[in-house]
Amino acid sequence: MSLTNAPRPLRSVLIANRGEIACRVMRTARRLGLRTIAVYSDADANARHVREADEAVRLGPAPARESYLDIDKVIAAAQRSGADAIHPGYGFLSENADFVAACEAAGIIFVGPPASAIAAMGDKASAKARMFKAGVPLVPGYHGEAQEDELLREEAGKIGYPVLLKASAGGGGKGMRVVESDREFQAALDGCRRESRAAFGDERMLIEKYLTQPRHVEVQVFCDSQGNGVYLFERDCSVQRRHQKVLEEAPAPDLPPVLRQQMGEAAVRAAQEIGYVGAGTVEFLLDAAAETAQESGSPFFFMEMNTRLQVEHPVTEMITGEDLVEWQLRVAAGLPLPKSQDALTLTGHAIEARLYAEDPDNDFLPATGTLERFGLDLNAGDLTSDRVRLDSGVEAGDDVSMHYDPMLAKLIVHGEDRGQALAEMDRALAALDVSGVTTNRRFLQRLVTHPDFIAARLDTRFIEHHHNALF
Ligand code: ADP
Repeated sequence: MSLTNAPRPLRSVLIANRGEIACRVMRTARRLGLRTIAVYSDADANARHVREADEAVRLGPAPARESYLDIDKVIAAAQRSGADAIHPGYGFLSENADFVAACEAAGIIFVGPPASAIAAMGDKASAKARMFKAGVPLVPGYHGEAQEDELLREEAGKIGYPVLLKASAGGGGKGMRVVESDREFQAALDGCRRESRAAFGDERMLIEKYLTQPRHVEVQVFCDSQGNGVYLFERDCSVQRRHQKVLEEAPAPDLPPVLRQQMGEAAVRAAQEIGYVGAGTVEFLLDAAAETAQESGSPFFFMEMNTRLQVEHPVTEMITGEDLVEWQLRVAAGLPLPKSQDALTLTGHAIEARLYAEDPDNDFLPATGTLERFGLDLNAGDLTSDRVRLDSGVEAGDDVSMHYDPMLAKLIVHGEDRGQALAEMDRALAALDVSGVTTNRRFLQRLVTHPDFIAARLDTRFIEHHHNALF
């Protein structure tokens, strides 16, 4: 069925985002015959996502608060351009329940879950309480409402050090601190509260047992408005810097099939518990060896659910052969999921590397400038386009400013197995033709050729532990 005569007809979509994800969403929307509408700030007036859209609407000045984060302006742009739907991408307004409510009030389809599902997962403490009820294994810890300093300290003692303090309203690794001992607790709590208040206007904390060598394994889920839910397998995103992902791969290396199924089913249960619709990701920590795993009987623990399309969704697309943005648009149009669980298959291995405009030799300081060259030379790397994908929001000649996230592009490769994917990635990184702006390319090359990465000896402190070899 086409999207124009679906239960909720879709003829046009406004993409409330910028950069690579705006271009990525438009690519599928165009293929499905939708009219695409871009929005932009003054800093992006000539950006690639604006050039590629059928139509573009100015939001306002460069600061995100006055443009991409301004709900009224985005809704007004959708109304002015007659958009049937808004795709939020990731970041910006994608997990803002008020924005979803504003779309609903304006009669515009939001390509994503209902406001109630976003709200249920928006707060880490209440999300954990809901997941506990749904029987999803949690990292042991405290996620109660009472927040007196002394009580939190007692709870930390009960959990046992080291613990991790996390801002309930947190995200992007902010408001998070490892506490090694009771002596350090008060200072860490004060620091976290301060950071959380500044970033989120909220200082509620939760405490978790700090797992010292876990892997970050997350499950891609999808639900439709008819009550169907499936999982599209998992991604391993253990290679992180400051709790931010750098490399992602699918499937998770060496994950036993029975665990894959258990995690997948737990993730679908988590989504259905909150009436989820659309694409979502349930993040788990995996640590079979941990004492906690032995005590609780589960090697994986729910961390949080991201109620949007993730940056790393292409690795899932590579191993399943599905287009997740197409799934999102179909579900938003009121159509059922394109496939049932049994019809989904996992083929080969995919890896994604995030290319940032930043200087690894200078504390990863964001880099700016004009891109003299930017592209992937498939011939030079002996690469084929069905195995290598470059998702980017820029082209040669574009300016990289300091206003937004410094991610320039994502390089994604697919191989028959992990070894082949690694070799592809190494060749693809070498075939990247970038100049004019400093990037983390060399750093990525060192990562994917490191013997421990090749051997899949992964945990979330991989970069920290291999510091000397990587810098
Ligand atoms: P954010 O929402 O800020 O991204 P998350 O709760 O998703 O925060 O955690 C981000 C990362 O922090 C995880 O991928 C993992 O590396 C690390 N982390 C989170 N909780 C724990 C924990 N209990 N023990 C060890 N590492 C953790």
